[in-house]
Amino acid sequence: MSYEGEMLQALMMPVRQKVEQSLLTALFRHDGVIEEFGAGQPIVDEIADEFKLNQTQRSAVLETIYRKENRVKNAVLWHRLLFRAADSLAGDGLISRPTATLKITGKKEWMLTESGFDKTLRILKIPSKHKNSLLTKSFEVQKFVKQMIEAARPESYDPCDNSKKLVNKLKESAIRARGFRQAVLQAYDGSCAFCGMKIHVPDSALWEAEAAHIVPHSSMGKDDIWNGLALCRSHHWAFDVGWLSLRDNFTIQVSPRICSLPPAFGKIHGSEFIRCYSAKNIQMKLPPNKNLHPHQAALLWHRERVFFNQP
Ligand SMILES: [Zn+2]
Repeated sequence: MSYEGEMLQALMMPVRQKVEQSLLTALFRHDGVIEEFGAGQPIVDEIADEFKLNQTQRSAVLETIYRKENRVKNAVLWHRLLFRAADSLAGDGLISRPTATLKITGKKEWMLTESGFDKTLRILKIPSKHKNSLLTKSFEVQKFVKQMIEAARPESYDPCDNSKKLVNKLKESAIRARGFRQAVLQAYDGSCAFCGMKIHVPDSALWEAEAAHIVPHSSMGKDDIWNGLALCRSHHWAFDVGWLSLRDNFTIQVSPRICSLPPAFGKIHGSEFIRCYSAKNIQMKLPPNKNLHPHQAALLWHRERVFFNQP
């Protein structure tokens, strides 16, 4: 057995397979991404806490001879074990290496891949059907989000994709759908573009706001940022059925049909959730980056085909 192996055994350090599992679940807790870690960084302690490592186990140092320079190099054994676990997960394609993630996020980070994400859900016994509603980052999805956010805004834009397959169970379309959701919620910072409602599940980045298509998916609406809006569930519904729409200057338009609605309708406790936008020209909350604003071509489509513009 190697010197390192003997030390690991003598100190009763956790086996690498367990450390790998812990690293995957830690990645999941941190929304799929953790910074490249050096010894002494919070994540190193966070996982040590999980294994209830004592001070001796945390601080044990492995002396290695640095042959090139003929000097002794000290490495913290626990950090080395953690790093080896990360390296092995990357070798198995379950996480992306910091050098690869750097090209997408601009930061040296370890990130779950799609297979790493699936494996973590199995470890945590989370049904895979929940995968689509989680905003956990994965390398493949983030690649798509980057493309979507950085694409140049087109002057003339067709919000429909006539080649779109409506029933498509391919992995690629699932990644696209998750990328759309992630990019839209990220652009609107998780809050409703109409009322500003912003909330997620306690202890999880499962947001209440949804990524709404302006031209709906069922009408071949594109899965891109110019055809998207973050909306709370009530406003998503009201927008989809045509109570609300948007003018080209991003002010909210209320259907004149609202006049025929009994006064008790469309209220949450005492507050109006549709009529409140009819009083004056209230602008929707726009992402700070103009490139990510909804496209006027998509808004026009919505006003012409979904909005109820008759009293
Ligand atoms: Zn809302």
